[in-house]
Amino acid sequence: MQELYADVIIDISHEKVDRPFQYRIPEKLRGILETGMCVDVPFGKGNTLRKGYVTGISAQPEIEISRVKEIRGLAAGDVPVEAVMVRLAAWMKRRYGGTMIQALRTVLPAKRPVKALERKTVCLRWGHEEAEELRNECIRKHRTAQARLLGELLEMERLPYELVTSRLNISSSTITGLAGRGVIRVETQEQYRDPVKVSGQGPKRQLSARQSGIVREILGEYDAGTRRTYLIHGITGSGKTEVYIELIREVIARGKQAIVLIPEIALTYQTVIRFYRYFGSRVSVLNSSLSAGEKYDQCKRAENGDIDVIIGPRSALFTPFPNLGLIVIDEEHENTYKSENTPKYHARETAEELARLSGASVVLGSATPSLEAYSRAKKGQYGLFGLKERLTGGCLPEVYIVDLREELKSGNRSIFSLLLQQLIADRLQRGEQIMLFLNRRGYTGFISCRECGNVIKCPHCDVSLSEHRGGRMLCHYCGYEQPAVRICPKCGSRYVSGFRAGTQQIEEKLLEMYPRARVLRMDADTTRKKESYEEILAAFANGEADVLIGTQMIVKGHDFPNVTLVGILAADMSLAAGDFRAAERTFQLLTQAAGRAGRGEKPGEVVIQTYQPEHYSIIHAARQDYEAFYEEEILYRELLHYPPAAHMLTVQIFAREEAAGEKLAHSLKDSAEERYDGVQIIGPAAASIGRINYIFRFAFYMKSEKYDKLIEIKDYLDEKIGKMQLKRESVQFDMDPVNVF
Ligand code: ADP
Ligand code: ZN
Ligand code: ZN
Repeated sequence: MQELYADVIIDISHEKVDRPFQYRIPEKLRGILETGMCVDVPFGKGNTLRKGYVTGISAQPEIEISRVKEIRGLAAGDVPVEAVMVRLAAWMKRRYGGTMIQALRTVLPAKRPVKALERKTVCLRWGHEEAEELRNECIRKHRTAQARLLGELLEMERLPYELVTSRLNISSSTITGLAGRGVIRVETQEQYRDPVKVSGQGPKRQLSARQSGIVREILGEYDAGTRRTYLIHGITGSGKTEVYIELIREVIARGKQAIVLIPEIALTYQTVIRFYRYFGSRVSVLNSSLSAGEKYDQCKRAENGDIDVIIGPRSALFTPFPNLGLIVIDEEHENTYKSENTPKYHARETAEELARLSGASVVLGSATPSLEAYSRAKKGQYGLFGLKERLTGGCLPEVYIVDLREELKSGNRSIFSLLLQQLIADRLQRGEQIMLFLNRRGYTGFISCRECGNVIKCPHCDVSLSEHRGGRMLCHYCGYEQPAVRICPKCGSRYVSGFRAGTQQIEEKLLEMYPRARVLRMDADTTRKKESYEEILAAFANGEADVLIGTQMIVKGHDFPNVTLVGILAADMSLAAGDFRAAERTFQLLTQAAGRAGRGEKPGEVVIQTYQPEHYSIIHAARQDYEAFYEEEILYRELLHYPPAAHMLTVQIFAREEAAGEKLAHSLKDSAEERYDGVQIIGPAAASIGRINYIFRFAFYMKSEKYDKLIEIKDYLDEKIGKMQLKRESVQFDMDPVNVF
């Protein structure tokens, strides 16, 4: 009988996840042992018995057979949460590629020496009247940070320290200052345990009939033992979050825990405080500003049962709850749910697998669902619910499409159409607010020569440099900077100019036309500082400006009831992004941007400026008609075999030398072609960004209706690559890509 070997990771809760050790599988465990199982193994010189997790099984011994030790037996006890994570890692490795170690590092928190967990809380000590008085004084004296903190503490007397410093953007010196005067107190609890379950607290809201209908149906299935995925399709403000909160509350009442994923950009204080009001210190927030140690603490809290809910971006999925009951993914269509590091997993798919492994249900929410989710819902694989009405009041805005070609013909060379100019003047006069949105997704502003066509590029990265204030030109990938050119370096012509309308230029043009308008701008430059994103939005919400100009960043987050005009300049820039999701992205961005107008009592208007007024993504976005958009878009995907109609595997090749990269790409493609006829292969070609930091990038694509077929090809290529002695990073796989490579 053939010997079998298991890769075992020793005691992952205390040591660095480093490498697995190989053990022989005893006869009695053959056919029983599976990935994720916990086993006892002899370890080290003294052969002390240690616990370990099986991460893989093979028939090949890696070291000399006589030196391979044998697994002692299955470890006693329940299946701990680590076993689920190890299985999830194995699933991710198989589905998305990469090594088991890469997958394990993704799902397990970075280790650090275990020290006492501590949790700090900021509490109000003064009475409400005195505190209110002090707050007013702070407002008068423009001590905004103190005023903000006092305002929040008046609403809620205890706030987690980390929420105050990270999400409220209040410095520790402000806190120390107020504490020194005895206004507030910072409490520290070691090994924090909440004596009372605060869940169930908070403002109990009467759900609408539709909302409670959704809750009832999902819970009914849950209690009947059905675990599945649901999609709530509802515009922003239709009450989805309220449904999530109610579901989480019910799930907690059943002794379970919940994970809530939201895009990092939407992880604002407003969102977090809403959950905090309901779940108090039983909720934790995970975000990218936490250190590895802090993240590890969060995981420990989850494992110890100190929290019931975690909110965070993609990686919050790997919070090790002992009894996971529900995973919520808000804005499920966002492309940040796809990881750009190997394994390039999608959080939606991974959440479904995690839910399957741990007996949980999944709830997705979006105003513009991904084609993936909506097609599954239409086929009945997901439960589908619609929320049609905005609960915050206000009606859908009036939307106008302006043809920019016609504007030019009639002699208007401005970046603002005549209609938009008229409406801007009107709003400024009435003191209502305006948002101007530049759809720059997938588009990089560039400078070119009007005579020879030469485009000024980064010497390292092969991307066009973009123009910045102060006569500088910048590379957005590597940060290379040079003075702006006045004369074409190639032909000597003086007709060199920016071809772009960036947010800066829009601001300048706007101020030329309306010198008295108060303008805020939000883009990658103005939000480089960690908290400036929220500061700008807060300033606009406070009415400190008439106009907010920004990139796709401004379409999320806050509600601005005084915004009655949204202008979308050059709506089709994102249509030129050169990937199959361009129309979907354009539809999503336009729908979201248009949805910003008329949130309050006053009706809103939206102007979409475009060179392609007949494009279906623009027409349907203007009508806020998701269904119609979906029907056209899915036809296109079916016709061209793009996801979700088929699956697509990108093989990404990275090389220091161009010729070597190209050769490798061709040879891998040929191998795939020889072995798997009937699979459609596209490329290889230089990636859309052909070079980043002296690394050349190539790619080829494969399409098949069968996911397993693509996995087979991936594994086959992986084996080939393994024999070539290449660096691991030289070839990477991206299944059903979301981002352009
Ligand atoms: P979404 O998550 O779909 O954007 P929210 O749950 O945030 O929607 O709800 C939008 C607004 O409507 C919020 O201010 C919320 O407090 C309010 N709201 C939600 N449900 C109700 C309800 N049943 N009754 C009154 N107001 C509600
Ligand atoms: Zn030139
Ligand atoms: Zn560069």
